[in-house]
Parts: sequence; C-alpha cells; structure tokens
Amino acid sequence: LFITFEGGEGAGKTSALSYIYEVLINKGYDVVQTREPGGIEISEKIREVILNKNHTAMDGRTEALLYAAARRQHLVERVIPALNEGKIVLCDRFVDSSLAYQGYARGLGIDEVFTINQFAIENCMPDATILFELDPKIGLERIAANKGREQNRLDLEKITFHQKVYEAYSMLKKRFPERIHSIDANESQANVQEACLNKVLSFLED
Ligand code: C5P
Ligand code: MG
Repeated sequence: LFITFEGGEGAGKTSALSYIYEVLINKGYDVVQTREPGGIEISEKIREVILNKNHTAMDGRTEALLYAAARRQHLVERVIPALNEGKIVLCDRFVDSSLAYQGYARGLGIDEVFTINQFAIENCMPDATILFELDPKIGLERIAANKGREQNRLDLEKITFHQKVYEAYSMLKKRFPERIHSIDANESQANVQEACLNKVLSFLED
C-alpha cells in the first residue's frame, strides 16, 4: 500500500507521518517511512541541488525535471521494492507536489508537469493520498514561528505563492477524488495526527 502525504508548508505532514509510522510499527505492520525529494542517497543529492538557496538562476523546467529525476530514482530504489515485499510505504510528498508547485504555482502547467512525471513514474501512482488542507497564511506563520523569525518577514509574494499552491491542491482533489482524501490541518498538531491516523487505518481496512 502506497500512501502519500501532501499539502503546503507548515501543515504538519512530517510530524504526522512520524507519528503514524510509530503507531503502525507498534501494531506490527511492516512500514517504510520516506520523503521526497530525497529518501535515498542520489535523490537526497538532487534535493540539495534543488533546494540550494544560492541557485537563484535555476530555470523552472530544470527544477521540474530534477524533481522528476529524484522521484524516479527514489521510486525504483526504495518505494517499488518495499511495495513488492508487501510493505506499507508512507511518503512525505510525491507527484502531486510537482503538479501543485511547479505545474500550477510556478506556472509550467499541470498537464505538462504531469507528462514529464509520467515518464518518471510509469503509472505508479499512490493508492491513497492524504491532503493536509491548511490556510496558507497559517502555514507560513507556523514556519516562521519554528524558525524563530518575525512574522512580518512573510512578504506578500510568498503568501501569494502559497495561496496558489493551496488552490492547486484543491484542483487536484477535484481531479482525483477517489485517491485524494483531505484533512483539516488548521487544527492542533495532536488533532491533525489523530485525523491522519484514522484515515490511514481506514485505508488498511479496505
Ligand atoms: O516537504 P518539505 O517541506 O521538506 O519540502 C521542501 C521544500 O521544497 C519546500 O519549501 C517546498 O515548498 C519545496 N518543494 C517544491 N516543489 C516540490 C516539492 C517541494 O517547491 N515539488
Ligand atoms: Mg515537512
């Protein structure tokens, strides 16, 4: 069972994922916890290149291709072998992130970005996706608080970008209603983790 966690920044994906991983392991499930971009050495190296703040000149399509390349390697090296062994794979971000961030928010086109990703994933889509729906402004405030930064550093451009990411995920939810299940990430961390766990348990029962 391949489950992905999606949503904007500060939504609590990473902490919910770790929580669910622990609960499932304690229940005796065979689970793999991983993330994108990254998860394995080659893809973590690509992540460093993509997220390097000094690479201000990186072209949008280059970025989208690097995400797809990191995804491909992580999928064949980590995700698919685990799925073949019957494990549950919990992945922090996957193809929907590229569709939302590069396809929509960065303006490359959701369909265009999906096309290059089809080459990378060869139809290996998640069985289920949990979308952490969070007011983008709250997400940015949470991140700023975590980093001990002043709220006023959240400039307008950043808010606009994250609003687009939010809109994109809403569009994706309409496009893939069977696969994408949303939870309210505006709630407290404990509530978000519980809601997320209940979703995952319901997928396991199916
Ligand atoms: O999930 P995480 O917070 O680790 O993502 C790292 C960064 O990569 C975030 O700032 C996110 O906005 C960005 N990202 C992106 N496009 C993707 C995936 C992540 O811009 N396809
Ligand atoms: Mg995270």
